Amino acid sequence: MIQTKLTAESDAWFLNDSPVSQHSYRRAMQTALEVIQAQFANLDKPYSGVPVNRLASLFRGIEICPEEGSDLETVLRHAGDLVLRHSVAVHHPACAAHLHCPPLTPSLAAEAMISAMNQSMDSWDQSPAATLLEETVIRWLCRLFHFGEGDGVFTSGGTQSNFMGLLLARNHYAHTRFGWNVQKEGLPPNGNQMRILCSEAAHFTVEQSAALLGLGKQAVVPVKTDGDYTIDLRDLDRQLRHMRSTGLHPFAIVATAGTTDFGSIDPLSELGDRARQEGIWLHVDAAYGGALAMSQNHSHRLDGIETADSITVDFHKLFYQPISCGAFLVRDSSSFDRIKLHADYLNPEEDEDLGIPNLVAKSIQTTRRFDALKLFISLRTLGKVHFSRMIDHTLEIARETAGMIDSDEKLESINPTPSLNAVVFRYIPDRTPDEDRLTRQNRINREIRQIMLSSGQAVIAQTKVEGAVCLKLTLLNPRTSLSDVHRILDEIKQIGAQLETQRGECESHVKHAGSTSHYAKLL
Ligand SMILES: *Cc1c(COP(=O)(O)O)cnc(C)c1O
Repeated sequence: MIQTKLTAESDAWFLNDSPVSQHSYRRAMQTALEVIQAQFANLDKPYSGVPVNRLASLFRGIEICPEEGSDLETVLRHAGDLVLRHSVAVHHPACAAHLHCPPLTPSLAAEAMISAMNQSMDSWDQSPAATLLEETVIRWLCRLFHFGEGDGVFTSGGTQSNFMGLLLARNHYAHTRFGWNVQKEGLPPNGNQMRILCSEAAHFTVEQSAALLGLGKQAVVPVKTDGDYTIDLRDLDRQLRHMRSTGLHPFAIVATAGTTDFGSIDPLSELGDRARQEGIWLHVDAAYGGALAMSQNHSHRLDGIETADSITVDFHKLFYQPISCGAFLVRDSSSFDRIKLHADYLNPEEDEDLGIPNLVAKSIQTTRRFDALKLFISLRTLGKVHFSRMIDHTLEIARETAGMIDSDEKLESINPTPSLNAVVFRYIPDRTPDEDRLTRQNRINREIRQIMLSSGQAVIAQTKVEGAVCLKLTLLNPRTSLSDVHRILDEIKQIGAQLETQRGECESHVKHAGSTSHYAKLL
């Protein structure tokens, strides 16, 4: 009796073929849509500007799991007021801090399908069509990067893809050089002599991966960069020679195609030559710059990427996909054998004999989302020409922005000809006799960013270049126009000018980051 009642009630909670279930699903989605649209309806700035302690106080005392539930509409509207309202609006042109993109509408529709179907990519019997679609999209990606016989797998993003690149590289090197099976035997006895080379501008996940792989951060040897923040090949050669002469084992070079701060692209062909000569793995971290492959005008800048052994590419950056969505690609599909483990309950051996794909063997995840669908739907809807135009447009905006900064005497451009979308610069206060110039400049630039975020007017990033605090605009949004950028730069200069007149006092305003009134005075 009790069971029958629960079964009937469950129609309201789980999507199925009953009219009750379909009705609740439609209402739930409709309400969610309304809450989202209400949030967008009055989106005049990228952040509400509510300071951290006031926001935190809104979360205190919330009953997470009451004895009895409430109706979904109330719960959704409450989440809209509490969470959506105080989220950063990635769609806003003044949200320009990180590689954090506005998601394409087709991919949002696809997300609804992905979660409704809830396929899991770890076995064929949990995701038949999804498995084949992921493989098909991966083959397309391999063609895009000229990896003819390659293979790959969708990942949660660049962190996981970079980890996988170095995992395969480590296992491959240990196998071919030491006859050692890391999967079975753990790290080789001389594991602490294994080294990874990457430029000092490489992503921090290279070090993180080395640490996770049991090699330690010491395994990562940073190579100097040239004036354009790409790897200095002479320093690389010097480091390689030094390693050889001291008996170390360089086993991987990580090239970056699109560094986080400057979008710099390392010389891929030259690194490919070095890797081949030295018999070591080349991993290209193209998390950011990989999207250039979609651009008619800029794809040539990835020439040489096909010489890599593995590639990281992220779709939740310049492919405009909702988080998370990335891929890891290998040139030689047998590379995955070095991480293959077998779980009988997921992929019985006889399935493999029948030619049934086994994606879990290529991944470090087990249960895994069907993210390939959203990329597939976006690519088919927009087409290559439109993707190319969007990317070109954002690169153009970044170039013009750098030009605008360069010609402004209160601003200094750090990369006057940006490689991708990132524009790094700083506000230059007038000289004062009473304070060290760099200290003052750093303080004012830091405060500019904090004030902009606290007021919600703009979300911009801060970075450090040779000890100098700099501001950064990452202009990924194809909807951003030059007049939007103009407005942001004007605000930066206004805030900078006000901070200059306040001298030392403003330090105390920042210390009281909890209170808006201090900022209100400044604005
Ligand atoms: C974003 C990024 C990463 C990290 O990727 P996630 O998707 O955030 O895990 C790694 N490398 C580069 C160059 C990146 O831009």
